[in-house]
Amino acid sequence: MSKVIIIGAGGVASVAAYKCVENHETFKEICIASRTLGKAQALVDKLSGRGVKLSARQVDADQVDQLLELFKAEKPDLVMNLALPYQDLTIMDACLAYGADYLDTANYEPPETAKFEYKWQWAYRDRFKEAGLTAILGSGFDPGVTQVFSAYALKHHFDSIRTIDILDCNGGDHGYPFATNFNPEINIREVSANGRYWEKGEWIETKPLEIKGTYNFREVGEKDMYLLYHEEEESLIQNIPGLERIRFFMTFGQSYLTHLQCLKNVGMTSIDPIDFEGQQIIPLQFLKAVLPDPASLGPRTVGKTNIGVIFEGLKDGQPKRYYLYNICDHQEAYQETGAQAVSYTTGVPAMIGAAMVLQGHWKKPGVYNLEELDPDPFMAALNQYGLPWHEDFDPVMVP
Ligand code: NDP
Repeated sequence: MSKVIIIGAGGVASVAAYKCVENHETFKEICIASRTLGKAQALVDKLSGRGVKLSARQVDADQVDQLLELFKAEKPDLVMNLALPYQDLTIMDACLAYGADYLDTANYEPPETAKFEYKWQWAYRDRFKEAGLTAILGSGFDPGVTQVFSAYALKHHFDSIRTIDILDCNGGDHGYPFATNFNPEINIREVSANGRYWEKGEWIETKPLEIKGTYNFREVGEKDMYLLYHEEEESLIQNIPGLERIRFFMTFGQSYLTHLQCLKNVGMTSIDPIDFEGQQIIPLQFLKAVLPDPASLGPRTVGKTNIGVIFEGLKDGQPKRYYLYNICDHQEAYQETGAQAVSYTTGVPAMIGAAMVLQGHWKKPGVYNLEELDPDPFMAALNQYGLPWHEDFDPVMVP
């Protein structure tokens, strides 16, 4: 029976808060703290009366002193960063200063450079260890569940894994010509960066969306997908011994890509500040302000997501293939939590990751990526809390 602070009150935070309330044997008290108090309060109002003590607070999570003051007043056991990756380090600093465990869903990137790497957060390993505190990095779906799937495959199905292909398919339709399913700024930074995959000991860089494939995602159908660089690849190459290749593919519809290209061509996706009527503005942040709020897409999004991982390797000397995946329906997610499937598939694993620490399964001092921890209780919780997984022992491989 523990107390958590959830930082942020967007799409992912709203699902995680909903699921923490559902898991009230573990989460006794929840404080939702965000930049805009009204959004945190709206979430508290929506979830109150269900047996968990809830409160809303205002905080600027870029400021360690504000966070520390909040933690001293609220006394959390664990703090979940469900705001943005820019706040990872300030929240980790405040957790160390106060003495709380930490969890996030996306790795740190500096606001002024569109480049994410674990080095900044891995640098906290010794400090968390010495303080006897746990930090869990990237407990969403991808990163997150994809790494739990990898640990599970290695534990139960392979002696060695040779290749990993992570396939992220969103077959949802929100009816807008262009919108992003999670924070537009983070989404566009990720998609417009160079692609990268790892093969035989080195990173191979591609131009943005240069490598294209198609895959039949069963219930979701055949979709075009593109190779991107994704953060879990960096930790999986270190933690899955003998891995020879890892790639990450994400599906995009033609309308999304055409709009993105056009916005890029006219400079709207740039993160370099420009002078506008005597004020410095960042074009991508301005674009975010005019795009639909991802949290508002829930009622209009129909269709399903299919996110999974295809493994290939050896078991008892024999070649083996194995595919683990989840299918999530946007409307079912919305009916249950008020948010579409992209927020749902991130918010549920965020709650489960926090529960793993609070229940003691993953309570060990240090900073961890999810494949470093026992996958079994997490896999059981996915089935229990709305993200059931499926297995295929003869999947079609990606060429
Ligand atoms: P949203 O933009 O919907 O929500 C972000 C929330 O954080 C908003 O409530 C915002 O406040 C708040 N916030 C932003 N800056 C601060 C700050 N300085 N201090 C306090 N609060 C702040 O994003 P999402 O819910 O879509 O995404 C949340 C996180 O989840 C992101 O880091 C994203 O990268 C990650 N993610 C991870 C995925 C995975 O599978 N691992 C998949 C999808 C998302 P305000 O309302 O005032 O703007």
